[in-house]
Amino acid sequence: MENNDRRKFIKKVGMGAAAIGAGIASSAVPAMAKEKTYRWKMVTTWPPHFPMLGESADKIAQWVDEMSAGRLKISVYGGGELVPPLGTFDAVSQGTVEMGHAASYYWAGKCPAAQFFAAVPFGFNAQSINAWILSGGGMKLWEELYAKFNMKPFLAGNTGVQMGGWFNKEINSMDDFKGLKMRIPGLGGKVLAKAGGSAILMAGGDIYTNLERGVIDATEWVGPFHDLKLGFYKAAKYYYYPGWHEFGTAFELMVNLDAWNSLPDDLKAIVSAATYKSNIWMLSEFEAKNNAALRELIDVHKVQLKEFPKPVVKELRKLSTEVLEELAASDPDSKKVYEAFLAFQKNIHAWNKLTEEPYQQLKNL
Ligand code: CA
Repeated sequence: MENNDRRKFIKKVGMGAAAIGAGIASSAVPAMAKEKTYRWKMVTTWPPHFPMLGESADKIAQWVDEMSAGRLKISVYGGGELVPPLGTFDAVSQGTVEMGHAASYYWAGKCPAAQFFAAVPFGFNAQSINAWILSGGGMKLWEELYAKFNMKPFLAGNTGVQMGGWFNKEINSMDDFKGLKMRIPGLGGKVLAKAGGSAILMAGGDIYTNLERGVIDATEWVGPFHDLKLGFYKAAKYYYYPGWHEFGTAFELMVNLDAWNSLPDDLKAIVSAATYKSNIWMLSEFEAKNNAALRELIDVHKVQLKEFPKPVVKELRKLSTEVLEELAASDPDSKKVYEAFLAFQKNIHAWNKLTEEPYQQLKNL
């Protein structure tokens, strides 16, 4: 096309020409990108291939490999293999690696508001946190928050409602928390401290020995599926429910933003699809397998299952609200996310009153 003709053509189609030009340019990029194999690293906060949690990180890498026909290869590293488990956040933020798999409440010290996107005491269950983050505005807040650390978050799994934990003494009243040394992380730990106990932090691998030796009196982890494997029943008598501090803990896949921006659109869509798959895969695994593990704990290992007394749970709820309000008052990002969390909680509770609550009552008729 001669220059004069080209000018006429552009004038004729006006803005359409710009769109066509852009179309040609962007379709040329994926054609080149399709020849390129991306080799990424994912670090995790879990022991290598740890059931469900490390396993879901492995699966994300496997699914991305399959869906991309090998164009995005992700090597997964357990905690400590490349960086320490709690070094995951900085490694992704600084671009040492492209991806990290974790639970966002581990980052309370660096980014306190991140805790709302994993679990807060008396917060959302799996269904509600999915609704909030994926369809109720939560993801926008999470993305804004992580953009400050040059990262993009994805929702990547959920434990479902957790158990309250393993105890060597009965919890009959709030007084029983006084002086209790319990492994319970994050905001749940702050609630325990308000109740007069001491929240002790330790890596997952150290819990059993410390419980057995009496260094701690109690511990929580996730639920029966893991607890049976970890052998906590050999070191504690009572297994309490419900997990008031974690009604449905969400897991995250963090991606370094520079790495993310370097990916062609189809690989971005594949990473996003793999996290959606992981999110439902993990919850389904826990929901399908927890009860069989619980039966084995009770029938074979003679564990004593106990429910926290209602007045105790009510008081814990009161203390939890105080903890969340203190968090919101201490940090502007937490305040913003807490307000959105409360607004969505009000919305979902109103709907659940007509749906989930009757379902829970009517199914037992
Ligand atoms: Ca837990």
